[in-house]
Amino acid sequence: MEYLPNIIFAVALIAGIGFFTRNVKKLTRNIKLGKDVDVSDNKSQRWKNMARIALGQTKMVVRPVAGIMHVIVYVGFIIINIEVLEIILDGLLGTHRLFSPLGSVYDFLIGSFEVLALLVIVAVIVFWIRRNIIRIQRFIKPEMKGWPKTDGNMILYIEFVLMILFLTMNAADFQLQQLGAEHYHEAGAFPISQFMVPLLDNLSESSLILVERTAWWLHILGILAFLNYLYYSKHLHILLAFPNTYYGKLKPQGQFNNLESVTKEVKLMMDPDADPYAAPAEEDAAEPEKFGASDVMDLNWVQLLNAYTCTECGRCTSECPANQTGKKLSPRKIMMDTRDRLEEVGKIMDANNGEFVSDGKQLLNDYITPEELWACTTCNACVQACPVSIDPLSIIVEMRRYLVMEQSAAPTELNNMMSNIENNGAPWPYNQMDRLNWVNE
Ligand code: SF4
Ligand code: SF4
Repeated sequence: MEYLPNIIFAVALIAGIGFFTRNVKKLTRNIKLGKDVDVSDNKSQRWKNMARIALGQTKMVVRPVAGIMHVIVYVGFIIINIEVLEIILDGLLGTHRLFSPLGSVYDFLIGSFEVLALLVIVAVIVFWIRRNIIRIQRFIKPEMKGWPKTDGNMILYIEFVLMILFLTMNAADFQLQQLGAEHYHEAGAFPISQFMVPLLDNLSESSLILVERTAWWLHILGILAFLNYLYYSKHLHILLAFPNTYYGKLKPQGQFNNLESVTKEVKLMMDPDADPYAAPAEEDAAEPEKFGASDVMDLNWVQLLNAYTCTECGRCTSECPANQTGKKLSPRKIMMDTRDRLEEVGKIMDANNGEFVSDGKQLLNDYITPEELWACTTCNACVQACPVSIDPLSIIVEMRRYLVMEQSAAPTELNNMMSNIENNGAPWPYNQMDRLNWVNE
């Protein structure tokens, strides 16, 4: 019986980490459904980008209020979780404040964690007010109704509760230390939680131990639960922001990728020595791949990683000229739809022993409409605004390619322009011979 708490703790830990590992496997499998893409170039630049954007949060602080608050929550949450290491070891070994022999270093660490915990609480409250009271425009767009709104708030509630539990645990511990309770030797500095002690003043030693143990258990179980919540939440970005910024686009923003098959075709057409009647080379004889993308499997894996990394912050949508002028397009929705469809595909695979069985649906039309796709001006403002290097435009372009090249479904204006280029060498409907007519006007 003496070891019962340790055993319960070990079981909870194994279950929490086991479930999380299962979800990571699912996540990896889903991302790998995307086409291969070579991102092995320029490693040093990629590491720098990751350090600057994900670790340094440089793009977050472009909007100072939200940015600085986010940095506090991010730093606070990550650093406070260093204490989780001590909690885990205490839980497994049955010790209490295992690292306390570090003396003044330990005092400094616990003191800093407490200050950060307070700052996180303040930041979380500000975030909640911005979302629910001030109702900042980008948080109340149509795509943010339902689960995305609940998810955004849920994360704030969980972080708030975890920080309160942490401070409560410390306050009760501090009081027990003052009372000289068994096992609660003097350790740590409590610059914030000491002010909570008056709330516990009238409690007996056994009640204080109950408060301290309850907060301790809820704190660690809450962290394990939160870890597993990530897969279902936009909060997954706390993990994926790092690989996503590493694999982010390095080319200049206006530079599009060329379709390899089309490039080959054009080169052949331009080659004066090519024999137009020659049989195609063996590797080119296979049925050509689909042009562009109509479903998530037609996108590349970096685009799918982008979808899972999206924080749903809406910075892209608030900068998008199409959205600002009342068009249906929202680059954030493009990313959310891609993730939702990918999740749907993943669930179908789970139900069919890892095989995808068509459900008659696809990303195009069932999630993203041509109206949204054609509203894009390809200005790249969304790419520039994204704090975690997501490229919604690349998905839009791939889906447009599918519409044009597979379905001949470009809007009339575009079709007219393309036939003008073909016939007149310019986008306008005038004969090349008439180009200099303006001289005589
Ligand atoms: S590239 Fe398209 S989606 Fe992105 S901001 Fe510009 S118009 Fe909006
Ligand atoms: S794509 Fe980037 S900017 Fe847009 S909502 Fe997602 S994380 Fe925010």
